[in-house]
Amino acid sequence: MVDKLRAEFPFFSFNPKIVYLDSGATALKPQRVVDALNFYNTHESVNIHRGVYQLSQRATNTVEDVRKKAAAFVSSSPEHVAVFTRGTTEGLNLAAHILTSTKSNLADFFASYKISKTPAILLSESEHHANIVPWQIFAQERGYKLLYIPVDSEGKFNAPKGFLQSLAEKYSVRIVALSLQSNVTGILHDLSPYRTFADEHGAVFVVDAAQAVVHAPHEIKKLNPDFISYSAHKLFGPTGIGVLVAHKKVLDACDVYQGGGGMINLVEHEKSTYLDAPGKYEAGTQAIGEIYAFGKALEFAEEYKELIHTQDINLREYGDEKFHNAQIRFFGDGARMRSPIYSFEIPGAHAHDTGTLLDEQNVAIRAGHHCCQLLMQALKVSATARASLAVYNTRDDVDKLIDAIGYVRKIFRK
Ligand code: PLP
Repeated sequence: MVDKLRAEFPFFSFNPKIVYLDSGATALKPQRVVDALNFYNTHESVNIHRGVYQLSQRATNTVEDVRKKAAAFVSSSPEHVAVFTRGTTEGLNLAAHILTSTKSNLADFFASYKISKTPAILLSESEHHANIVPWQIFAQERGYKLLYIPVDSEGKFNAPKGFLQSLAEKYSVRIVALSLQSNVTGILHDLSPYRTFADEHGAVFVVDAAQAVVHAPHEIKKLNPDFISYSAHKLFGPTGIGVLVAHKKVLDACDVYQGGGGMINLVEHEKSTYLDAPGKYEAGTQAIGEIYAFGKALEFAEEYKELIHTQDINLREYGDEKFHNAQIRFFGDGARMRSPIYSFEIPGAHAHDTGTLLDEQNVAIRAGHHCCQLLMQALKVSATARASLAVYNTRDDVDKLIDAIGYVRKIFRK
């Protein structure tokens, strides 16, 4: 089954020697995704929404169909719609803007917006910078307090008893924005207490699903977040496209983000009126070819859903055993639920040196802070080497990683 799936990825024919272990950064793309992008550019190549001719209408239908599939992939709510974005980061910037703007009418949907205590946004120390910096930018400007769930030295959430209660006494927590899965440790956090907290206090519950979308889309659905942001490229799709999924009525009630063509009803000299959501958040020409390809990525992920799940378990169980046997410490070991992402340290070797030496052995991994500097502080390291595995990886790839780490250790005599 894995062989059949691997045959869909042209990467392996072009790079037969490379063991690709950097899917947390971006997943490889199957041929059908590449073909869909090519198909748009060669066969249709027209703009959407405003064309009165058949080709444009056909392209519009394709894009609207992908929009529905992208929302349904992470949400069971028929009320949820997808706004196309450039990816998770842009989706979180959009959410941060509209959820803190005084021009958004959120009090009708979320009771916390009626409370006059200092408004606050709850994040965690495990977040990717994409789910910290946008909130900081708007918090500073709009008088919001930023609060963080602490994490322990393994990267697990570590809130002291009564933590949420004490926050609720002091602040009006209007937004709870958390990543379901860490890109550093692969830990799938249990966000259910925070979902309950958001419900009880009338806060908006936002999920950064950049990593979870590939490993655990069912867990995202179970949480039923109010806002979900993810990128196509972590899900075997193209770069430069993603979605922010949210309730249509909430999006209708929120402030616009960028202005331009395609998002208006009527433009006058001094002011304009806007389309309803999702159109009001999609100024300018969209990445149409990428949306076609995104559609094929969603189809691929749906088709191989079972295998993606079983491979996650297979590779994690095998990988954990190999790391333990070789006595290589990795962060997040023993977490409740984890995908096969290994952030590790070789004593005496800087993560970048480890990465370079692994590359000499044709093993492609990532090294650095992984856009998670607050998490690095909690883990008490400045950087880690990270191997992130996906459905197309094999146990043989894990063996090659462990052998290559052995080579690094030999050089550093550790
Ligand atoms: N959030 C998490 C957990 C991530 O791992 C990433 C990317 O690695 C992002 C957000 C940002 O995604 P993108 O760069 O596709 O916008």
